[in-house]
Amino acid sequence: MKKGVLLVISGPSGAGKGTICKALLKKRNDLHISVSATTRSPRAGEIDGVNYHFLTKETFEEKIKNNEFLEYAEVYGNYYGTPKTDVQKLLNNGKNVILEIDIQGALKVKENCEDGIFIFILPPSMEELKQRIINRGSETPESLMTRFKSAYKEINYISKYNYAVVNDEVDLAVEKIEAIITTEKCRVDRIKDKILDSKEGFIHEQLYD
Ligand code: 5GP
Repeated sequence: MKKGVLLVISGPSGAGKGTICKALLKKRNDLHISVSATTRSPRAGEIDGVNYHFLTKETFEEKIKNNEFLEYAEVYGNYYGTPKTDVQKLLNNGKNVILEIDIQGALKVKENCEDGIFIFILPPSMEELKQRIINRGSETPESLMTRFKSAYKEINYISKYNYAVVNDEVDLAVEKIEAIITTEKCRVDRIKDKILDSKEGFIHEQLYD
């Protein structure tokens, strides 16, 4: 069976990665999100196993030792990581998988998964980014400043990504990501084995699924 596509959606805190991913998942049933593990405490309304796997620092560090993460990073004082076997299973079953992760994590994934699609989500402006982080209401003035300063540094890594999408309107950003998925699925290096294997003509569903 054809392997699924790995879609890495990344960008600074407040750019709107989470909102975009939610909208994408609502719109398309061919995409699956990988549930990350974290040591941060759940926010109001967050459910263990749905939003994150909420772990203690000890359990997380045990999993690091056992090489259970595709990538992990320390983000604003807490660990976040992508469970390796979950992602591998989904990809091997032909599912397209979204990772919604920070920039450090995305760069680590890129070292191992070159055929992933790396999309950088940009805010429309730095002022808007600041306002979005304030509006979340979950940050202290110190953590707000930390996230805001990091965003300035993080934007320098955009050249490591394949695509940049400005999140000025969520629906438009989602449309752009869908266009990227379509484009990527037409790339010859993704489908050439299928084409060369096909002896009885090309059946398009088989090519692009
Ligand atoms: P939050 O605490 O706001 O849910 O997430 C903080 C940051 O951690 C966000 O930028 C989010 O994308 C990132 N993040 C969430 N899960 C992971 C993960 O598994 N790995 C990495 N590297 N970052 C993650």
